[in-house]
Amino acid sequence: MVITGRVYVPSAVEEGGAVVGMGCFSTQETALNVLRSFLKKSHQVPLERASVASWDVDVVGDDAVTVLSEYECRTCPVCHRTTFWIDIERFKAKCYGSACGAWIEESAVEAGVIDCGWPPTRFAEQVEDIDQAMRSLRRIAAKAEAAGLSAIDDRFSMDEV
Ligand SMILES: [Zn+2]
Repeated sequence: MVITGRVYVPSAVEEGGAVVGMGCFSTQETALNVLRSFLKKSHQVPLERASVASWDVDVVGDDAVTVLSEYECRTCPVCHRTTFWIDIERFKAKCYGSACGAWIEESAVEAGVIDCGWPPTRFAEQVEDIDQAMRSLRRIAAKAEAAGLSAIDDRFSMDEV
């Protein structure tokens, strides 16, 4: 067994400030996976923020902790559940709700370009800012709803929208 001096700790903060612990892990990847599966259920428990931090074992004080990523919870523009998580550092957002997966991301190729999409319908668009991306996701969701489809229905395709 390898003894590591560092552990990775995912956690979430509920509305009202209570911290939800999820354990501590020997790799960042496992910590992220644990957090991601927890975020899928964030419509059941009202959450405000979530993060993954690394902690150095046997170090006293603030130096022991490094926040690796931090997320804020919003209502999803597509499925209206509180499962839309925004990565605060690099602008990147994704709905973790089942069957949704709506996302917004800064283009990796072009500066000042925002990509957004909704995988169940293969909808994807390039816009100029985040507000536009939210609007364009709301528009495609409204279109689906008008066609009698629920945004959390995992059966439909672009042909129906
Ligand atoms: Zn959603």
